[in-house]
Amino acid sequence: MQIKRLRLSGFKSFVDPADLRIEPGLTGIVGPNGCGKSNLLEALRWAMGENSPRSMRGSGMEDVIFAGTAARPQRDFAEVSILTDEVAGEAEGEVEVVRRIERGAGSAYRINGRDVRAKDVSLLFADAATGAHSPALVSQGRISAVISAKPVERRAMLEEAAGIAGLHVRRKDAEQRLRATENNLTRLDEVIADQD
Ligand code: ATP
Repeated sequence: MQIKRLRLSGFKSFVDPADLRIEPGLTGIVGPNGCGKSNLLEALRWAMGENSPRSMRGSGMEDVIFAGTAARPQRDFAEVSILTDEVAGEAEGEVEVVRRIERGAGSAYRINGRDVRAKDVSLLFADAATGAHSPALVSQGRISAVISAKPVERRAMLEEAAGIAGLHVRRKDAEQRLRATENNLTRLDEVIADQD
């Protein structure tokens, strides 16, 4: 899945509607301290279904709504839209996912204008091997974490990025089944020996 456009309104420091076109390939966000780089990445994660306020650097989910400044009053809602290159159907065109939160009313999701559950959005991104916790979304702290990580930790990150983390789970399952079978064989040998 390729994300083609990110649109924000009232999300954290992005009080006015902002549109960002995302081109194919690697996208880097650069800018001075406090300009909103992390807020952009958080907007992507949030629209994909992130539900932990702490991982959005807040204490409650409503903290993502523009809180106001000396010059501007706070907003009552935040909305983030992700346009992807997935095709929903000839009539519907590309898939657009929108998440909106209103003060006192919680979050709601839409896919191509239709109200959907949070689970539908998570599944849409999971099926495309991406989502709010995708290693493809690299935050600032993550880079220094990779540099200072122990070799074992770095390997785990690379395996996650290569999409082979799931193979380890299956390998563990297979090893457990192998051990159970070996135990059964030993037991069988004992039963046969008893009968001799
Ligand atoms: P750095 O390079 O220092 O990590 P950054 O470019 O990643 O900075 P962000 O952390 O994305 O910047 O943005 C921080 C700014 O967003 C701060 O000025 C903060 O006040 C503002 N901000 C965060 N949440 C809200 C909110 N709910 N309402 C208004 N402004 C907010």
